[in-house]
Amino acid sequence: KKAKRSGDRYLFYAPTFNARASEQLTLETRLRRAVEREEFTLFYQPKVSLEDGAVVGLEALLRWNDPETGLVPPLRFISLLEETGLILAVGRWAFHRAASDFVALARRLVKPTPIAVNVSALQLRQPDFVRTVEEAVKACAPFGCGIELEITESMVMQDVQQSILRLKEVRELGPAIAMDDFGTGYSSLSYLSKLPLDAVKIDRSFIVDMTGDAESMSVVSAIISLAHGLGLKVIAEGVETEDQSERLRRLHCDQIQGYVFSPPVPLEQVLQILTRAQNR
Ligand code: C2E
Ligand code: MG
Ligand code: MG
Ligand code: MG
Repeated sequence: KKAKRSGDRYLFYAPTFNARASEQLTLETRLRRAVEREEFTLFYQPKVSLEDGAVVGLEALLRWNDPETGLVPPLRFISLLEETGLILAVGRWAFHRAASDFVALARRLVKPTPIAVNVSALQLRQPDFVRTVEEAVKACAPFGCGIELEITESMVMQDVQQSILRLKEVRELGPAIAMDDFGTGYSSLSYLSKLPLDAVKIDRSFIVDMTGDAESMSVVSAIISLAHGLGLKVIAEGVETEDQSERLRRLHCDQIQGYVFSPPVPLEQVLQILTRAQNR
């Protein structure tokens, strides 16, 4: 279509020159609005013990309920939330929501199930981060500490000493801390023993290759031995098949998470899963 007036022509041509930038701007604007309007929600994915099949924890995974396009996964917007600093507001919200959802579940279940929250580097660097966690922990009472943290190697690497101190403070409040996506970052071995950790999560990329590929199997086996040697629990991410699950069990992996048991689901659905699992 032809633009008739000069004003329209400008509108017509501008996006072709800088389509990417304008697309970004639109997304950023929409994300700011999403924060104001609280369009975010948390889905929950169970962590299952390989020893007895019990659901021993949940991971909170952020979703954006965009009124224009529906449910948006984090891959599409997390990095922009981080670049713009909006992750601080969303991250704080996630801690509070996870705590209140933990309580809502605990009231209706025999056994309270702790919820792990993913943390961004920028959040950890905020002076008020410890207070955010403390508030969430307090909100879990009287069901005990229902909050856990998932961190990554790269976020710790930005300032190792500072991270160690801050994570120690957090852990004294009660939450267990897991190293997420383990094996994909640098410095995996040197910092593992220095950080105040309770668990490592083996990245999905190693699990995917495990069945066909003897080397991946060795890597997984080595990570499990190393972690156990340091007194850490091991959780395998992205387990999709019974075969992977059985191999992990034989390697003495502690817990699995993945589509083989359940994808991340909304709160009401995870309540059903937990109710069924606790009544077996
Ligand atoms: P993550 O913490 O490593 O989470 C695991 C991701 O793997 C999730 O993707 C989950 O849906 C997906 N997954 C779980 N089981 C399977 C499986 O069997 N097969 C496959 N193919 N995928 C599986 P999701 O929900 O899209 O989240 C992606 C990443 O976004 C997360 O990776 C985490 O780094 C980040 N993220 C999610 N929620 C938050 C949050 O609240 N705050 C921050 N800072 N980051 C978050
Ligand atoms: Mg995670
Ligand atoms: Mg992960
Ligand atoms: Mg991962």
